[in-house]
Amino acid sequence: MDRLKFLQSLALLPLAGAAMNLKHLHKATEPFEVTDKMPVLFLGHGSPMNAIQETEFSQGWRNIGKSLPRPNAIICISAHWETKGTYVTAMEKPKTIHDFGGFPQELFDVQYPAPGSPAIAMETKNTITKTEVGLDQQWGLDHGCWSVVKHLYPNADIPIIQLSLDYTKGPQYHYDLAKELSSLRKKGILIIGSGNMVHNLGVLDWQNQNNGFDWAIEANTMMKNMITNGDFNPLINYTSLGKAVQLSVPTPEHYLPLLYTLGLKEEKDSISLFNDKTIMGSISMTSVRIG
Ligand code: ZN
Repeated sequence: MDRLKFLQSLALLPLAGAAMNLKHLHKATEPFEVTDKMPVLFLGHGSPMNAIQETEFSQGWRNIGKSLPRPNAIICISAHWETKGTYVTAMEKPKTIHDFGGFPQELFDVQYPAPGSPAIAMETKNTITKTEVGLDQQWGLDHGCWSVVKHLYPNADIPIIQLSLDYTKGPQYHYDLAKELSSLRKKGILIIGSGNMVHNLGVLDWQNQNNGFDWAIEANTMMKNMITNGDFNPLINYTSLGKAVQLSVPTPEHYLPLLYTLGLKEEKDSISLFNDKTIMGSISMTSVRIG
């Protein structure tokens, strides 16, 4: 029986009309209805200016947004929310966090007023058994999340929560934790990792906007081959991949969201790349779609 018929039959039951507020019932169950398995994304976010500039990358995000089934909700794992322990944002109205400096006022004026979802936060908490997940009321949406999601869903009408990165844990932990989110894909939830595969701000080359250093291209190519071949173990053990990767991933936070995306790949899922480019010497915008 489909949901509409189910709801209609409930309405026809004697007493049901009085006992249940159908609108409320609909609202409570809607985020958790069984859906086709949603794709999973890793988005290379790069500069926050992509939020307000028309770039090849913002165009790529808009295109991918249009190609996806409309999600019931979004869970975003952003490079920019690191915590001790794992948390999900659980407020009704997450604030737009401008967690950067030195950018034009126009960027600080951006608001992304998508609703939160205490229900999805609770569902995520209950789905994860590997660790105790805390419900956070303080954070909101950081730029790793809103600067890209605003292009996917410009109307800000899809409920969104963030899942934090536990900075005390290693890559295998994050990859394994992602697997626990797998059932949410069948509840219409779009899971997005947002970081950059190659991200070394210390050596940015401002004169070279459209290309990467040799080592950045080498590392990005190596990672891409492993991703498309489904060869994830070396990517989890990325610290053993040699000099080019060490230079490309000097700190883990922009890389770990990729492992959440890869951890969610199931056997029959396809993998494709987009926004595949190294820029400013030491950044890769390469993004991944699974499923
Ligand atoms: Zn970032």
